Amino acid sequence: MTARFTGKVVLISGGGSGIGRAGALAFAREGATVVVAGRNADSLRKTVELIEAEGGRADAVTADVSSSQDVARLVTTTVERHGGLHIAFNNAGVLEAGPLADMDEAAWDHLIAVNLTGVFLSMKHQIAHMRANGGGVIVNTASNLGAHMRLPFLGAYAASKAAVSALSRAAARECIGQGIRINAISPGPIDTAMSLRPGESEDARTERMKEALPIGRIGTLAEAASAVLWLASPEAGFTVGHDLVIDGGATA
Ligand code: NAD
Repeated sequence: MTARFTGKVVLISGGGSGIGRAGALAFAREGATVVVAGRNADSLRKTVELIEAEGGRADAVTADVSSSQDVARLVTTTVERHGGLHIAFNNAGVLEAGPLADMDEAAWDHLIAVNLTGVFLSMKHQIAHMRANGGGVIVNTASNLGAHMRLPFLGAYAASKAAVSALSRAAARECIGQGIRINAISPGPIDTAMSLRPGESEDARTERMKEALPIGRIGTLAEAASAVLWLASPEAGFTVGHDLVIDGGATA
């Protein structure tokens, strides 16, 4: 087994499920101490248990990424408990679907607060720490829908993710001179609850993906996580401000 992240402390938002949990397990398998953050203490605890069952090191901190206070506490707690913060995977997100004309303004505000402001606040506090402590690496989760509107009724989500891509590029240029390397991932449909339509079964989704994606199947959690680990690793040392599309050819 390779151990690209031995001695590194990795902070992952949305680490209690889906891509965040898969990333947490993958980083821990490669030697990192992983701090998972999110709103649901039980699901975070489950991720920690899964990592510890494999002999890895993990910790959980409950935090809402749309709260500056929570995100500041998250960074401070990570550093105090584990001695540093070397890699951040800002991955928490929510999806709202529906026609824009019918979208509740509170739902819009919530989506932007989590998906966009959450990434801004996370980077703000992480960069402040990393700048003063020898640099670091940040990977943000955007979406392939940010650049290619493949589906109807996802305008708010797509807009928030396009902004995450733009913010990641801007932050990358701003911070690389200070030793902080920033990139994004833009997944297409990945095998999590988020890619299920309301009421849709996993079998129905499998059938839909055969038609919808050139590759004919949904992306796996391992395929998403391995892209994040590569961007965070020294192998990607010259990769800055990139938005890595992982979508089975959907937007090729
Ligand atoms: P998921 O719903 O399992 O993960 C989202 C996580 O974010 C959850 O753990 C949730 O608790 C957490 N979260 C939500 N609001 C939060 C808040 N305010 N503060 C802290 N944590 C919060 O789904 P996923 O598919 O693993 O999604 C992970 C990321 O990938 C999201 O940003 C999503 O938009 C993005 N994405 C997913 C897909 C896909 O098909 N699954 C495709 C493109 C992009």
